This record gives sequence, structure tokens and C-alpha cells, in this order.
Amino acid sequence: MATKRDYYEVLGVSKSATKDELKKAYRKLAIQYHPDKNPGDKAAEEKFKEAAEAYEVLSDDEKRRKYDQFGHAGLGGAGGSGFSGFGDINDIFEHFGDIFGSAFGGSGFGGFSSRGRSQQVRKGSNLRVKVHLNLQEVVQGVEKKLKVKKKVACSTCNGSGAANAQAVQTCTTCKGTGYVVQVVNSILGRMQQQSPCPTCGGEGKTITQKCTTCYGEGIVDGEETISVKIPAGVGEGMQMNVAGKGNAPRRGGVNGDLIVVITEEKHPNLQRDGNDLIYELPISFPDAVMGATVEVPTVEGAVKIKIDEGTQPGKVLRLRGKGIPDVNGYGRGDLLVHIQVFVPKNITKDERKILEKLQESESFNPKFAKNGFFDRMKDFF
Ligand code: ZN
Repeated sequence: MATKRDYYEVLGVSKSATKDELKKAYRKLAIQYHPDKNPGDKAAEEKFKEAAEAYEVLSDDEKRRKYDQFGHAGLGGAGGSGFSGFGDINDIFEHFGDIFGSAFGGSGFGGFSSRGRSQQVRKGSNLRVKVHLNLQEVVQGVEKKLKVKKKVACSTCNGSGAANAQAVQTCTTCKGTGYVVQVVNSILGRMQQQSPCPTCGGEGKTITQKCTTCYGEGIVDGEETISVKIPAGVGEGMQMNVAGKGNAPRRGGVNGDLIVVITEEKHPNLQRDGNDLIYELPISFPDAVMGATVEVPTVEGAVKIKIDEGTQPGKVLRLRGKGIPDVNGYGRGDLLVHIQVFVPKNITKDERKILEKLQESESFNPKFAKNGFFDRMKDFF
């Protein structure tokens, strides 16, 4: 392309146009210069492509920012990720399918659309299964064998649905193409529309004698045990896609996918917070005062930690690397030990006497604590 017009000018919008305004402007131009409406008009086709290119850039925040800053030069392929332009007009339909879909009510593009092509590979439906993991499995990763009820190819007819090889015939209506072309009137004027063949339902073949096991469907109810490797660090609600392990399609094609949804079982003591784990550790008042060595649970078993003398309630001890591994491999979280000081609700008379004695002691009075709360407040005022 020799000289490129300004993208905003192409779409006829201001530099501050919102996404909605861009979309509206582009739709208007796309309808105006649509190739179906301007058959053989090269100038219209160029305008159609130009508008698509402008919209492709301006509807993308990152590209728009670069374009605003550096103009067309900012989109050059320096980093290899620049704008490559639309070579084929079909790319435009694929790229902006949502816009065309809503603009033309989904009925429309006949020969331009590649929908006809992609329809011919039949895909089975996806299956979703939940898998429950305990904390140990989350931390270490696990291989699960899942017994899944699903549609499988009929073994009698090998998924064809036909009683025998001779019972499969090329559809006479569509000559095996799977679609028929009709001329229809639409908002763009007369145009060719491609639709699935009504005789064979888009399969391109008809079956004269059905398989008696699957009644011509090519699939039957079945079960499969599927091994799924779950990486360490997954979390509640995450999904894993296992391609080709879903339902088999009717009469040949590719299987759908198996979607594994992760659910986490609660651990009795350790709570998850992102990749960190939290443990609430109650210690006795004497331990808080005098220090102690106590055990805390981790996923790999109990470990001993040291409680310093004079540990305050609410103090958090961090055990590095004792949390959950990052699912993308970026290290491992920590175990945060939240220290609580246990205050008894019922005490004996003797215990009460000891406490009353301590009450008189300056060491137990926050007013006299060095660097304590009241000390700091005094400085403040
Ligand atoms: Zn069968």
C-alpha cells in the first residue's frame, strides 16, 4: 500500500471515539462496502478492507495506543507482532465474526464465509467432570483416573451408523458437498446463501440401511477410564481441557473435549490464601511470655518452630516455601503461622490467686512496658 489514510479518518470518527462509536462506524462502512453488495467493485473492496484494518487496530487498546503515539510506523513489524493486514477477505469475516453476526443476523455470506468448510468436520459435545483434590494432591500434583460416562463410537458399524459399507451412499441432493446454495433477498440485496443440505443434514452422504446396534446414530452410551495428569498448584474452579476425550460425534468426526473442573477439599488445619497457606496457632500465655518450641502441621508433615520470648498475639511467622507451588512454575508460596494467645475461660481458685499476684507486678502492666503501646502513645501526644 502506497500511502495509508489515517485510521480515524477512514472510520470517520474523532480521536476520542469510544469503542462503541468505533464499532458502530465500522459496521456502517462494512455494510456500505460489503462485497456482496458491490460485486466486482474493486474500489469498494479496498474500502471494505481499509475499514476492517482501521477497526482491527483501533479496537485493540494496545495497538490503538501505539498508533496514537507513533502513527502507522508504530504498528510496523519491528517486534514481529505488528499489524499484518488482511490478505484474504475471508480473514475479515473470521476476525470480526461477532460484528457480522449481529449486523446480518447470521444469515448471509454465502460463498465468502468459511462456515461451510468448517461445518464438515463434525465434533462431539464436550463433557465436564469435577475432580476433588485434597491439599496434598494440590501441592504435589496428581494423576487421576476418571471413570467417565460418555457417548462412544458404535463398535458394530465403526461409528458410521450404516449396516454395511454398501449402505452408505453419496447424497444425491448435494452431490456429497453437504450444502446447497440458494439465492435469497437480504438487506444487502440479492445474494447467494449457503446452507446445510436438507436431505443429508450436511453430511454429504445418506444411509440406506441403518446399523441395528446404534439405530444409525453411530454412537452408543459407553464408559471410559481417562487418566488425567493434574499439575501441582491448581486451584478451585480451574479447568483443564483434555482434547478429544469428550463425547464421540454422531456418524464420524472428531470427539469433543473432556473439561476437568478442579474442586478443592478443605484441609482441617491449613487454609489456602492464593499460593500461601495459613495456620492459626494457639499458644499458651506462659509460652508467649517465656518462649517455647512448638509443632505446626505442613503438607509434608509436622515441623518444629521456635516461639521467641515475649511473642505478641497476632504475630505472623513465615515458613518460606511451605505453601503451594505456583501452577505456572513461579516458585512456591509460604506457610504463614498466625499466633494466637490462648486465654482460658475457666480457672481454678489457685490459678486466680497467681494471676492476682501477677496483676500487681509492673512487668504485667502495659503502662510500664518499654516500647509498649502506652509508651509510644506518650511520645505521640
Ligand atoms: Zn452402529
